[in-house]
Formats: sequence, C-alpha cells, structure tokens
Amino acid sequence: MAHDLIDNMRKQIDEINLQILDLINKRATLVQELGKEKEKQGSNRFDPERERQMLNQLVENNKGPFNDNTVRHLFKQIFQVSLELQNDDKKKVLLVSRKKQAEDTVITVKGVEFGAGNPILIAGPCSVESYEQVKAVAENHVKRGLRTLRGGAYKPRTSPYDFQGLGEEGLQILKRIGDEYNLVTISEIVTPADLEMASQYIDVIQIGARNMQNFELLKAAGRLNKPILLKRGLSATIEEFIYAAEYILSEGNTQVMLCERGIRTYEKATRNTLDISAVPLLKQETHLPVFVDVTHSTGRRDLLLPTAKAGIAVGSDGIMVEVHPDPDVALSDAKQQLNIPDFNKFVDELLASGLYKGEVV
Ligand code: PEP
Ligand code: MN
Repeated sequence: MAHDLIDNMRKQIDEINLQILDLINKRATLVQELGKEKEKQGSNRFDPERERQMLNQLVENNKGPFNDNTVRHLFKQIFQVSLELQNDDKKKVLLVSRKKQAEDTVITVKGVEFGAGNPILIAGPCSVESYEQVKAVAENHVKRGLRTLRGGAYKPRTSPYDFQGLGEEGLQILKRIGDEYNLVTISEIVTPADLEMASQYIDVIQIGARNMQNFELLKAAGRLNKPILLKRGLSATIEEFIYAAEYILSEGNTQVMLCERGIRTYEKATRNTLDISAVPLLKQETHLPVFVDVTHSTGRRDLLLPTAKAGIAVGSDGIMVEVHPDPDVALSDAKQQLNIPDFNKFVDELLASGLYKGEVV
C-alpha cells in the first residue's frame, strides 16, 4: 500500500518534470524569437530592468514552500541560460574556428609559407643586441637554408632593472638584416602605439605571453595588415588563447599564427610545462598555423631537440628556438640560448629525424 503511494507520487513528479521541461523549452523558444526581433530593432538583448520586473512579479506571487531567495535563484538560472542560448549562435561561429573555415590558413611572407604543411624554424636571439650579433645569426641562417629570424627589441622582463631591449633601434637592425639576407623578421611589440611604427621595420609582429590578454593590443593588431604571431599566456587556458586570437581576427586581420610556449604549473624541472597536447587541439579547433617555442617552454638546452621533435610529430607548423653567437654574454636568456655550432647540430638532428625537411630547396 505504502509502495503504491510512493509510485503514484513519483509518477506525478515525472509528469511535472515533463511539464516543466516543456514549459522551459517553450519559454526558451520565445526568448530566442524575442532576441531576433530585438536584434532587428538594434536593441540590446540583455535588459536588466525587464529581469528585475520579472523577478519582482515572481516573488510577489510566490506561495511557497520555496522561499523568495530560492525562487529568485532558480529563475535567475533560467534567465541566464536563455541569454546564453542566444549567444551560443555567436560562439559556434568563431572566426578562428574550423567550423568557420575548414581549410588551413597559410601565411606567406617573402616566399616563406607558414602553415602549408612544411615545418618552419623560427630562430634567432632572445634580444637584438647589435647589428653584428644579429648578422652572425643571419649569415648562419642563410648557410643552413633557414628563412625566418626572430629577435626581441622590446623585452618584457620580470625585473625593471634587467635589459629592456633596444626598442626602435633594434627593429631598425632587424629591417637592415632582413633586407640584406632576405629573411622574414619577427619581433615582439608590447604597446598599441608602436604597432604602426614597427610595421615599417619587421615582417611579423609577435604578441608575447605576458600580453596575450592585453585586449587593446590585440584589437590594434587586428587592424594592421601584418601577420601576427600570438603566444599563449603564462597561465592561459586553450579557450582563453583561442579567444585572444579571435580578438585579432574580429578586427579584420586574418593573418594570425599561434605559439604554444609552455604554461605555469607546479613543476620546477623545466622553466614552464610544455603543453604538447595544445598543438593538436589548436589544430583541430582552429585553422591557424601553430608553433611550439621550445626555448621558453623548457628553459633547458638539453630538452630543445626532443621537444622540437615532439612538437613537429604532433602536427605543429614549426618550432621557435633561440640562438645567439655567444650565449654566455647574452643580455637575456643566457642560460637556454644555443650557440651557433650547437644550433647547427640541433638543425642537423631535426633533419636526420625526418620530421623537419628543411626550407630552401
Ligand atoms: C620571446 O619569445 O621573446 C618571449 C619573451 O617569449 P614569451 O612571451 O613566450 O615569454
Ligand atoms: Mn628569450
């Protein structure tokens, strides 16, 4: 008898569940239609005054047993998911996503194709220190058939007393070397106001890990007609990284490359933890070229080669690595930059592995 009673009550609850489901979906459909109507009229979808009226009306009519706060909380959830339902349409079609563009984005600069299937080495000193220093690296690049030279002119250093970079003078050195040796030059810019000026000197603008969520810088980079290399933030999730790239595309610049450079974890054996799975994930989720920076992720010379191999093996479009003619006296990252002979060994071993095919034929 008692069992029958419970069964009966459960049946009633099931029935009510279905009615609630039906009603919240009916409500959601209406909210969607209302959203479309509002969009046509150009008015904002989120209307806090209207929400306040609805909550007041609900509380006034609340007969319990739920108390007013619970009623507010429950309905606030319903309002929230309804609003998200409208935004979902936007989320589904991120400009960076494979859903939006199935084919890979290929960025061609001075004849170098980034993202076309042949991995590219982006190599050069941490900081531009002098014309002679960059020249030594560039000459070796030409000998080895490499086409892409990196070098920092604006250095985001942990301590304000550390070398901050040569600034515009550093970019001028890169411009001169890039022209003399026909190399693609990449350098980090940290201030929106410097982007236009920097565009005259360098071929690719790097946005560094510390600025991955500098949204004004991202938006300004989005208004440039220059390729951007965007590095993953120190503690950024993949979702945040993707949205950062979306900021650039949303302003019109579609020439964006991503670079996994290690994230902060509890592990101290390496400078950062290289998130190798980020590479195939970013390749799946976006159509943008993806690079792996083995220098800043590992912070260790002995790990540059294995992580570079791993990066290419999981589908990256290339590797970033730092090389300096005399790392012991480098003004930044002295510990992990390769000297030129060791860099050449690194290139030889990558070639021998068959993962890297070389660049100039
Ligand atoms: C760099 O590439 O020079 C650099 C500073 O790297 P990150 O922004 O990844 O730390
Ligand atoms: Mn460095």
